[in-house]
Amino acid sequence: TLSDRLTSVLKNLRGKGRLSEADIDATCREIRIALLEADVALPVVRGFIAHVKERAKGAEVSQALNPAQQVVKIVNEELVGVLGGETRRLNLAKNPPTVIMLAGLQGAGKTTLAGKLARWLRGQGHTPLLVACDLQRPNAVTQLEVVGERAGVPVFAPERGNGVGDPVEVARRGVEQARHAQHDVVVIDTAGRLGVDQEMMRQAADIRDAVRPDETLFVVDAMIGQDAVTTAEAFRDGVGFTGVVLTKLDGDARGGAALSVRQVTGQPILFASNGEKLEDFDVFHPDRMASRILGMGDVLTLIEQAEQVFDARQAEQTAAKIGSGELTLEDFLEQMLAVRRMGPIANLLGMLPGAGQMKDALAQVDERHLDRVQAIIRGMTPAERQDPKMINASRRQRIARGSGVTVSEVNDLVNRFFDARKMMAQMAGRFGLPGSGGLGK
Ligand code: GDP
Ligand code: MG
Repeated sequence: TLSDRLTSVLKNLRGKGRLSEADIDATCREIRIALLEADVALPVVRGFIAHVKERAKGAEVSQALNPAQQVVKIVNEELVGVLGGETRRLNLAKNPPTVIMLAGLQGAGKTTLAGKLARWLRGQGHTPLLVACDLQRPNAVTQLEVVGERAGVPVFAPERGNGVGDPVEVARRGVEQARHAQHDVVVIDTAGRLGVDQEMMRQAADIRDAVRPDETLFVVDAMIGQDAVTTAEAFRDGVGFTGVVLTKLDGDARGGAALSVRQVTGQPILFASNGEKLEDFDVFHPDRMASRILGMGDVLTLIEQAEQVFDARQAEQTAAKIGSGELTLEDFLEQMLAVRRMGPIANLLGMLPGAGQMKDALAQVDERHLDRVQAIIRGMTPAERQDPKMINASRRQRIARGSGVTVSEVNDLVNRFFDARKMMAQMAGRFGLPGSGGLGK
């Protein structure tokens, strides 16, 4: 499997120091096979890989991951990004009812989706109405009525018994009915054909023109694989759509259709269907789809763990240094940068339980002061940061000049650093942190 192959690539590359072009190429070869195996269309694979290579070449070398892991991480991030990053929400009309039209091939799962969507919308506090515009197959209307009943949502259907009705007329009257009976969302189920054909497209386009939907959702079976691209293009050109719904994700399809449709049409994937029951339905999650397409959830887990272990190891080393009073200004700067990356310090501390009384004190924390501290430490040589005791009077003058502060500010920082180091070592001893044998040097 891909995971096995990638694991062997990871092994081969373990221990190398930087992202070389050969590393990137080797990993991308495996990714390419994975994407093709997941039924992503070839041109989409090519474009995607080229983009990943470009980004990997400019990537900073990670300390936690080996090169192959790092490339996989980039691939995953790009994939999640292409698939939509954060999920887009349904567009609701400013003046209800919101009209949602479903389009797609026969058997794609439109009628089932109509029921799922109705149930879901109800759960969100909406009052949907289903409209049966598939008058092509004799039992299509009945199927929607059954689904509607299960969802607890009314269905608007043409009167039976006077031959084949006009779906455009039914759609129009359905929306009228919704306005009249104060349904705030209308879901229009339409007919499909087994293959793309002009008549079906024309009918869908006529319904579209009659009701001007706020959303037209292209419903596509994830199992159709490579065909997803041509089908999506046909519907884009014939009817146009504003969003995509993937169905039958409970099958063994790896979901390459998701990437293809998204790349080729540029329209977001809004929902995912994964079963025949009404509750087998969810908003689309790009991250889950990405790991399904890559088919290496275990590799991604490994990468996450490696990063966590790295963090933990670094924290442990810092703790040991604190305990033995060996903390350097370099560590101090690193810690400060790490904390600041998480957001303004006041916010961060404010989130701690029991920080209530500290609020006033926290309000005093001055971010600009931290900027100056950072500037001062940056103005020191590596040797000075490593061994702050060597920072004598003339060095303090040089540092002050270099970082645009006064000598007394440098003095202040260095003195407070020594105080803090001593205090932290004492606290570490009390809390039993590693290395706390040798107290405050
Ligand atoms: P339509 O022709 O586009 O309206 O498709 P239908 O809603 O009638 O669905 C066609 C078949 O696919 C039916 O047997 C459904 O039960 C089944 N189906 C629809 N969605 C899913 C799904 O997400 N998973 C599975 N396993 N079957 C589905
Ligand atoms: Mg149907």
